[in-house]
Amino acid sequence: MIGILGAGLAGLSTAYHLKNRDYIIFEKDSHPGGLCKSFLIKGYTFDYAPHIFFTRNEYVKSLVNNLLGDNIATKIRKAFIYIYGTHVEYPFEANLAGLPQNVIDECISGAMRAKENPREYHNFYEWIVNVLGEGVGKHYMIPYNQKIWKYDLKKMDYHWIAGRVPSPNIEEMKKGASGIQDKAFGPNATFSYPIKGGIGAIPNSFVPHIKNLKCNAEVINIRVRKNEIIISIRENEKKKEYKFEKIFSSIPLPELFKIIEDVPNDILKLSRKLVHNSLLFAAIGVDRLNITDKHWLYFPEKDYIFHRLSFPMNLSEKTTPPKKSSIMIEVTFPMNDTINIEKSKELIHSGLINANLIKEKDTLEVFYTEIVKYAYVIYDLDHKKNVPKILEYLTANNIIPVGRFAQWEYINMDKTILNAKNQVEKFS
Ligand SMILES: Cc1cc2nc3c(=O)[nH]c(=O)nc-3n(C[C@H](O)[C@H](O)[C@H](O)COP(=O)(O)OP(=O)(O)OC[C@H]3O[C@@H](n4cnc5c(N)ncnc54)[C@H](O)[C@@H]3O)c2cc1C
Repeated sequence: MIGILGAGLAGLSTAYHLKNRDYIIFEKDSHPGGLCKSFLIKGYTFDYAPHIFFTRNEYVKSLVNNLLGDNIATKIRKAFIYIYGTHVEYPFEANLAGLPQNVIDECISGAMRAKENPREYHNFYEWIVNVLGEGVGKHYMIPYNQKIWKYDLKKMDYHWIAGRVPSPNIEEMKKGASGIQDKAFGPNATFSYPIKGGIGAIPNSFVPHIKNLKCNAEVINIRVRKNEIIISIRENEKKKEYKFEKIFSSIPLPELFKIIEDVPNDILKLSRKLVHNSLLFAAIGVDRLNITDKHWLYFPEKDYIFHRLSFPMNLSEKTTPPKKSSIMIEVTFPMNDTINIEKSKELIHSGLINANLIKEKDTLEVFYTEIVKYAYVIYDLDHKKNVPKILEYLTANNIIPVGRFAQWEYINMDKTILNAKNQVEKFS
């Protein structure tokens, strides 16, 4: 018998790929889906944090398409950066037209110097300046990344960036600066989104294909014995024990190490060094049609508390009641910090007005907030050294990590689904 801890996409994909093996999934929440859940409030469907689905992996693409059947639509990205009072199409470097001329000149000349004079880099800050150039760094990449990570960019590694940031060449930058960009960049230039049910339709589509899912079942203790693992569950207020030959865990590592007994000190110490950030997520329903036609907007400037806004009504019109608009807002903050929710709501409201998205007189039918404790894994300079040691300890004890905060990687839904499949094939 196998235990699966957590029914986010990683736990669900583990169960799906274990096929007819015997397993039980324990989920502390009342519903499966984890970070990919959606919720309905006053007729608006929101995701807990804004999600779109995209992948370069053919297996995951066809799995998700098959699971969702006709409940998925493909979209061509309409994403922009709101900067210097104008909308620059994403990616910034490839679409400089419309920015002040001195900004365009600094971005292009900086990128040229970086290409002509390649310099070594040892951290994320240096990677930005030495690879993308000083201008792109100063005007966009440094302020935006400071805002989203809430961590010193000079203390961050750069390996995670490969394949994530589009990298137009100088000719392509010049073309974009003249307003004649005809190329789409980056892995999410086209993406998919469920027609009904928000992003939560993806985890929900796994549920009919799995068995033994226990919700409201929180894992509160794990004891590793020679040939078995004993776990204690708080299930509907009652404590129960289960024995497994092996468990697949998607519980965030810092939480997992609070409940495993007898962990060696060196591993515990490493687990306490893991860095992540947290998120204040807000969802707004506006009683007005078409506040924008865009899918999402990035905000690098300090004047705005949020770093990104997404618009569910443009991802699928079925997320939003007729003649209304909807906004999802992200504000990150450092791990172990707190954030003043009321003050943040005021700053969100005034920021939306200043960015000309809503008007003072607009009725906000919904203004919901939620804290997401684990939002982004931060690749500090010790990530590469410490994380493999932690994961090795777990697998040696038949606790197989699956998912974003159990494998401690900045992975999206596609990699989460795929990694769980790979872990099942390797360890079951
Ligand atoms: C702000 C944000 C935006 C994102 N945007 C995108 C996007 O646009 N596209 C994309 O592809 N990906 C996106 N992602 C990534 C995506 O959310 C993750 O890759 C994926 O959801 C990770 O799934 P998981 O199962 O590993 O983790 P989770 O979803 O966190 O699942 C873990 C589960 O374990 C449960 N659990 C925890 N502790 C216990 C316990 N003690 N007992 C029982 N159960 C427990 C939790 O309740 C949860 O259900 C985004 C993530 C964030 C934070």
